[in-house]
Amino acid sequence: MEITRRRFLISLGAVAEGFRTRPTAASVETSLSRFEFTEPHLGTMMKIVLYASDQPAATAASRAAFDRIAALDHIMSDYDAGSELMQLCRAAGGPPVTLSEDLWRVMAAAQDLSEKSNGAFDITVGPVVQLWRRARRRHELPEPERLAAALALVGYQSVILDTKRRTARLLKPGMRLDLGGIAKGDAADQALIVLRRNGIPIALVAAAGDIAAGDPPPGRTDWRIGIEAFESPASPPSEFVGIHNSAVSTSGDSEQNVEIGGVRYSHIINPKTGTALTGRRSATVTAPHDINADCYATALCVMGPERGFKLIARLPGGAALMVQDEAGQIRRRQTARFPALAPLHHSAGADAQ
Ligand code: ADP
Ligand code: MG
Repeated sequence: MEITRRRFLISLGAVAEGFRTRPTAASVETSLSRFEFTEPHLGTMMKIVLYASDQPAATAASRAAFDRIAALDHIMSDYDAGSELMQLCRAAGGPPVTLSEDLWRVMAAAQDLSEKSNGAFDITVGPVVQLWRRARRRHELPEPERLAAALALVGYQSVILDTKRRTARLLKPGMRLDLGGIAKGDAADQALIVLRRNGIPIALVAAAGDIAAGDPPPGRTDWRIGIEAFESPASPPSEFVGIHNSAVSTSGDSEQNVEIGGVRYSHIINPKTGTALTGRRSATVTAPHDINADCYATALCVMGPERGFKLIARLPGGAALMVQDEAGQIRRRQTARFPALAPLHHSAGADAQ
């Protein structure tokens, strides 16, 4: 099973999960069947895999989960001028704005990581991201003056959250927030919650490289998630992590990048300099919730393993793997507790592709 990829709109790090095809004792006992659903949301193809007793139960639960994802998309999107996020941006420079619970949860998590990462993750990169999106379309580097002007609007310290009132105030007119590095992980978490509420605890939600997993499939201890091969992203993964009631996200430049003047620029920005990352790297983070796995993976790409792994040490239940091209040498580093799975024998490892 492949997740459909939309070039330049998504980046895909981890893909799908695997199952043993032979029936297990538990699956016979519980007579649950596996169902799979896909729908486009959040600029990517969202996939839900779940185990249910019958088709109507599976369809109803997945419908409710996708509806929740669509509602979140409408709140968080920066492509949708009517989104709550864009309304907040239009109020930049003005008084505080009261946020919905959903936008509050995501912005609070983003700000928390901004502080902990000393601004390596920063949702105020919006104006700079806009310039780099244009650069990707035109195959031309952003003009230095425009980049400088955009960079002047960047800085998480200019977002003031009031926990008691659940308000946000953006200090500088023209500020633009971009939740592209955190919203998909949050949506995966929220969809999983909806599935559980609908009586489906055995489920997995994948927003391209952002994956949240519930209880494991019948007879298994974990969902088996393939990590995209660093050197040949299109080929089937040869590395896997095993997770349940937990999440995994991968960030990197394998899908969304542009090459200008022989240099490959990522869609991830260093918020301090306004430059897109160069040099190939990918970061995979596992954590109890995908809202964290998603944004920490993005932060790790900016910070590198040395500083990044110190950050992971402060994330309860967190672990990470980083793969980097260092002057032609592929270096792979992982933290303690990274839930890498041993490769399975030939066909068994690839049975979910
Ligand atoms: P993807 O969205 O492709 O899965 P990420 O989760 O790493 O990848 O998020 C990258 C997106 O986050 C970018 O497309 C951009 O919208 C936004 N972004 C880029 N750089 C940063 C950054 N330093 N901090 C926060 N968000 C960022
Ligand atoms: Mg991310």
